[in-house]
Amino acid sequence: MNTDESPICSAKGCRNAAVWVLAWNNPKIHTPERRKTWLACEEHREHLSKFLGLRGFLKDVVALEEWGRSASDR
Ligand SMILES: [Zn+2]
Repeated sequence: MNTDESPICSAKGCRNAAVWVLAWNNPKIHTPERRKTWLACEEHREHLSKFLGLRGFLKDVVALEEWGRSASDR
């Protein structure tokens, strides 16, 4: 990820700055330790985590600041 650009929410049509990172994994296509990430603004965090949660994909919701600090394993 290019940290010079301010990250934008992953919700469709949303251009808000992202504040949350949603870490998820689809067991059908990903190995268990693999993490895909979606970014979410304050407004869409609930919507996106519900979407992933319903499918059993959601692993973690982390503040973007926190995520950046622990992203060395990507
Ligand atoms: Zn959004």
